[in-house]
Amino acid sequence: MREQFPILQRKINGHDLVYLDNAATTQKPQVVIDAMNDYYTNSNANVHRAVHTLAGEATDGYEACRESLKKMYNSDKVIITSGTTEAINLVAHAWGKANLSAGDAVVLTEMEHHSDIVPWQMLAKEMNIELRYVPVQQDLTLDMEIFEASLDGAKLVCVVHISNVLGVCNPVDEIISLSKSKGAKVLLDAAQSAPHQYIDFKSLGADFMAFSAHKMCGPTGIGALLVTNDVFDEMQPFMGGGDMIETVSIHGSTFQSNEHKFEAGTPKIAEAIGWNAALKWMQEIDFKSEHKRLLEIARWLSEQLRSMGMTVYGRHDDNDAAVVSFLHPTMNSEDLAHLLDARGFAVRTGHHCAQPLLERLKISGTVRASFYFYNTREEAEAFVKQLSEILERFA
Ligand code: PLP
Repeated sequence: MREQFPILQRKINGHDLVYLDNAATTQKPQVVIDAMNDYYTNSNANVHRAVHTLAGEATDGYEACRESLKKMYNSDKVIITSGTTEAINLVAHAWGKANLSAGDAVVLTEMEHHSDIVPWQMLAKEMNIELRYVPVQQDLTLDMEIFEASLDGAKLVCVVHISNVLGVCNPVDEIISLSKSKGAKVLLDAAQSAPHQYIDFKSLGADFMAFSAHKMCGPTGIGALLVTNDVFDEMQPFMGGGDMIETVSIHGSTFQSNEHKFEAGTPKIAEAIGWNAALKWMQEIDFKSEHKRLLEIARWLSEQLRSMGMTVYGRHDDNDAAVVSFLHPTMNSEDLAHLLDARGFAVRTGHHCAQPLLERLKISGTVRASFYFYNTREEAEAFVKQLSEILERFA
């Protein structure tokens, strides 16, 4: 596994790289890099609009990614976006503007990433929409009583599947069924869950699901919005331009009826080809056993950190992700991260684009170690050893 990731051979400040920043972005296996190189070397052309061989190859490569996503996540419609952020903004503009009116309510949670808060705040301001935030409780769960109460008259519920700060997996089955019973649509932010589990979009029952390729061994700059057929028909084009139209005259335009309607302009061709290679590569992974293995590492690491006097912000229940957010009682997080980097460890610090959550936890940031398929227990042990040495010397 590790040999397939060229970057893992790198030395950082003279030490073996231990990459523990996977919730931010994951590393790319050679097959993904090769697929993108091959496209640029042998098949580079624009998609859809020409009959020549290269254009055909580029089009097939681009559309193959959509087909793989449809199969893997069981979705009738897959709109290719630049990532989770664009996918959520697309829902706000393409669905929100056409289906919400002044006074309507949208339910969010305090656990959302900024990309699932800011677009709704912008829309709320523009359209005079009410935003209702479901609080996060002391035990890091959502307050489901307040959630249920907030559904009264709500048109849309936006919820993060797995928190990028806490690794907490929200009870999305319950959230979706309660929302549906009150007639609200559901947008699932699957940026942190799609990389770790097979999600059957149709069975889950959400209306929208957003995620990014770069968090699942694919390239940056590409992601997807899964949409049900019913909701797809309620969406109006957001960006206008080439590829999304059927006809254009000086009097007006008509639009494509499929996903292209929401993919104006030259799309992310090399990225789609790279992502498709990543999706194929992931088919070899046993998601369930990997999830168990990584969660065990996260549980072990959390115990070690607690015994070193750290506060760990996470609970690591069976469905939670292998994300370990922690704070030292006195030592500055950035200093700690710099000292770890000097020894080859890549961790993230700061607010992780989830400031409302951190406000609720009464902290301004955490140090976060997040694990993916290529991480090992030995790396976690080395992390603990180096961290102890750092604390002995500097804390
Ligand atoms: N939602 C969650 C839960 C995330 O963790 C992230 C990225 O960290 C995003 C949304 C935004 O993803 P992107 O920056 O790829 O659009």
